[in-house]
Amino acid sequence: MKKKRIIVVDDEANIRETLKDILTDEGYEVLTAVDGESALRLVQSEAPDLVLQDIWIPGIDGIQTLKLLKNADPDIEVVMMSGHGAIDTAVKATKFGAFDFIEKPFSMDHLLRTVAKALKSRKGRLARRRSVGFTPGSAADRRFLGASRAAKRLQRSIVTAAEKSRPVLLAGEEGLGKRYAARMIHNLSDRRDHPFIEINCAELDEIQFERTLSAAALPARSRFALAEGGTLFFDSLHKLAPALQPRLAETLAAHFAQEDADGDDVRIVVSFIDPTGKGLDERLFTLLDETGELIRMVPLRRRKTDIPAFVERFVDLFADEYGKHIEKIDPQVFDTLSELPWPGNIGQLQGAVEGAVQRCEEGELTLTSFDLISLSDPTPGAQPRRLSAVAGEPTQEAGPSLRQKTLKTSLVLCGQGLHSGTRTGLILSPLPPDAGVVFADITTGARVPARIEYVRSTEYATTLSNGHVTIKTIEHIMSALSSYQVSNVLIKIGDEAPIMDGSALDFCSLIEDAGLEEQDALVEPIRLTETIVVGDPAAGPALVAEPADAFSVDYTLEYPAPIGRQEHTYAFDTPTTYKEEIAPARTFGFLDDIKALNEAGLAAGGKLSNFVLIGADRVLNTPLRYPNEPCRHKILDLIGDLYLLGRPVLAKFTAIRSGHTQNIQMVKRITMALERPEPIRAAAGGR
Ligand code: ZN
Repeated sequence: MKKKRIIVVDDEANIRETLKDILTDEGYEVLTAVDGESALRLVQSEAPDLVLQDIWIPGIDGIQTLKLLKNADPDIEVVMMSGHGAIDTAVKATKFGAFDFIEKPFSMDHLLRTVAKALKSRKGRLARRRSVGFTPGSAADRRFLGASRAAKRLQRSIVTAAEKSRPVLLAGEEGLGKRYAARMIHNLSDRRDHPFIEINCAELDEIQFERTLSAAALPARSRFALAEGGTLFFDSLHKLAPALQPRLAETLAAHFAQEDADGDDVRIVVSFIDPTGKGLDERLFTLLDETGELIRMVPLRRRKTDIPAFVERFVDLFADEYGKHIEKIDPQVFDTLSELPWPGNIGQLQGAVEGAVQRCEEGELTLTSFDLISLSDPTPGAQPRRLSAVAGEPTQEAGPSLRQKTLKTSLVLCGQGLHSGTRTGLILSPLPPDAGVVFADITTGARVPARIEYVRSTEYATTLSNGHVTIKTIEHIMSALSSYQVSNVLIKIGDEAPIMDGSALDFCSLIEDAGLEEQDALVEPIRLTETIVVGDPAAGPALVAEPADAFSVDYTLEYPAPIGRQEHTYAFDTPTTYKEEIAPARTFGFLDDIKALNEAGLAAGGKLSNFVLIGADRVLNTPLRYPNEPCRHKILDLIGDLYLLGRPVLAKFTAIRSGHTQNIQMVKRITMALERPEPIRAAAGGR
């Protein structure tokens, strides 16, 4: 294995030599430097793994040197050494990216431990980076990372724009780093030693405009004069008061004309949202568009392959900032964050990672540190969209065939599996027509369609398996998908669907937040031609399906006290009726059963918050949402299991104490009935 290379920076020769001896004995390769400048040269030429640096060094001071070193190689680890009385500075150094500091005089043991820890941290960081195919580049601005075509095009455009003197129009959504791009164009150009003057157009009022931008402005106040030789950046041009926009057009036209005449030299850069200039005064946009160069900044959701690199970079950045040693990032983090829509783009992603790093325990960063529910909302800050959007959807009564539907966007939900108790998440994504409802393993991507032929076990919950992938407890999400008539959707998941609060409410909200999109294909509901009976209706448990024009369930539950006999009749109308009547009903269990389940290793995720626990004489843990909540939950389960048919079924179901076993049998019987040769229908009265 290659020796790790360490640079020792100290102005005292005996310290340099002592450290060199100790570290060389330990098998490191050691170089020494007496000051910041020579350290920086060594970092650039020798690519060390670690720098041991004294806080007090001649020339550029310790903190300044640290910043330069980290700038030259963001992956280098720096350990600061400080004497008494310099602890404050040393602590500050960790904020600027030093791995740690040690106080002189230090023990050999402590020194070696700290060095080993720092090298391990670097190794972990580099390994994580390799795992996402990201090669550390120079210290180029982290806003412009990425290897996607869009990212490369943007990087090239910035470099090309910097070389020229023409105005630059930066167009793109919020959060893409338009201000950084403007800065970078300035810093890369030969104007870098002249001023970069920024004008926030949102804050510019008429008086300020008159004083600072009009031809009448005094040279001491004129932004054009202040920016002489440099760059004048108009940020958020679309936010400039409409009355001022034509006046800015005049000012700029005069500026360009004068520049042609006497070579007065201020580079104009502007930023706005819509590349077609929507929201801008026509004359202003035309002037800029004709004289300048337009750089379109592509939204993050259209360059999702860049997301892991950003996540990496931000994790490193904030781990340093908050002093967390994060050695590993769970691959699910990359998968999941790559699926989100990021309406706030890189800025939003950065904020999300910062929050997660703050919440994260030391060691591994996992999805649980992310506030995914709020991230999944496609319009952050906006009121969550409620039922109105779907309440107007056509119902089954609209006709014999329905349009197939999928989701408008991908969304994520996080929770815990009821039976496995492990953390699990769920990502819903749109699928093309006729794809159906498909589950996929979140890590391997292996897929299993939500169809009866893949049902493996129904003892306590409905489980799908195709040999490569097993997915448990799918009935609640299936129930919501059925009721919102989502025909095609990909559900990436751990090995068990998250239980949430034990009901289907969160799944309903998720579907509503994603929005539904009608597709160019039809779905034909299943119509029964005969009554199907599963079980013994006289004694129960039993499930009976009779031909009908709409879906309904009449469920009778009979348990010992405190539940007793309960009944509920549900007729499907719109997703709204489902959401009000059925979706909130939670999973329930009897105390004795739970004990047995726990002993069998099941129901490990059953917390008091995600299900209704029934004791010998009363419900133990929660007020019921309906007096007959358990009965309604049974209907919820039945709706979910029936969706293994892959399309709506128009029938009147009568259920007596039935459960997953009868539900699945019913699905099999209906499937068999459909596969039988067509019966003679003439006598069936049009059914
Ligand atoms: Zn259930």
